[in-house]
Amino acid sequence: MKTFEFRHATSVDDAVTAGTAPGTKFLAGGTNLLDLMKGGVEQPESLIDLRRLGLTTIAPTAEGGVFIEAGVSNSAVANHPLIRTQYPVLSHAILSGATTQLRNMATAGGNLLQRTRCPYFMQTTFSSCNKRDPGSGCAARHGFHREHAVFGASADCVAIHPSDMAVALAILDAVVHVQGPDGRRTIPIEGFFALPGDTPEVDNTLGTGELVLGIELPPSRFADHSWYLKVRDRHSYAFALVSVAAGLHVTDGVIDSAALALGAVAAMPWRLREAEAVLVGRAPGDEAFHAAARLAMNGAEPLAQNAFKVDLGRHSVVRALTRAAAVRIDDEDQP
Ligand code: SF4
Repeated sequence: MKTFEFRHATSVDDAVTAGTAPGTKFLAGGTNLLDLMKGGVEQPESLIDLRRLGLTTIAPTAEGGVFIEAGVSNSAVANHPLIRTQYPVLSHAILSGATTQLRNMATAGGNLLQRTRCPYFMQTTFSSCNKRDPGSGCAARHGFHREHAVFGASADCVAIHPSDMAVALAILDAVVHVQGPDGRRTIPIEGFFALPGDTPEVDNTLGTGELVLGIELPPSRFADHSWYLKVRDRHSYAFALVSVAAGLHVTDGVIDSAALALGAVAAMPWRLREAEAVLVGRAPGDEAFHAAARLAMNGAEPLAQNAFKVDLGRHSVVRALTRAAAVRIDDEDQP
């Protein structure tokens, strides 16, 4: 591993100032960054440790929602009573990812900032990866891409974002609070991640030195009817092939509000607005759910090895909506 400077940030302002220096990375749980550093994928000049800043609170907001500070562990988010009762889809999504040990270390902010697990990105022995080494090419396009994107990819990169948590945040209309050299601002979760375009090395819309302070959830619409479905090659400790976060609000037997997002199909959670719209005004059931599924994969552009994701996505939408409509996620359903 390359030599680097290391120090603890003494305040948010101190971290932001330090973060503007070239080659500086923020360190929180370290569950992704340290692995990448050991493999030589990330080679920062300086690491700023955020763990003495606190930022470990989950609290109700004046608007009736919840604010999750960036340093809260994934385990603490998933197991918090407010999250379990008001935002069960978020709890469910987090608990479907990684392992207990990793969730205990990984933070909410770090979960958003984790990098793709494309094998060509993760291994410096492969020479062609535009995300790791801009301009070098994309080995996945003509190599192994069974797990890669079917939406929003570019000629330069077909990687997916690996987070489960972010897919649930997408249907909850979460807002990310950040602080940078120019002060604080908020970024709706749909505007937080970047599609690869011709700059695949850029994963998100954060500016230089900007630090994630926390994630705000508006008041819950889907406490009674939501589900996170994760389809993967093995039941635990595996990334999704396709995932679906589904939320329904049902009044007098009619869906009056719906939200759907796919995971593992793009470099960001992929919100399904057309499919959501077709659900509203209908009774929850097979007819409505299949109508949504027919629209869900519109615009998909699969590669040679991942065309199965198109069919899998449609079936997964029906399954997730069916579970969301049928039951409230309770403790027995948590993975
Ligand atoms: Fe690199 Fe993206 Fe291509 Fe994977 S898909 S090899 S991350 S450029």
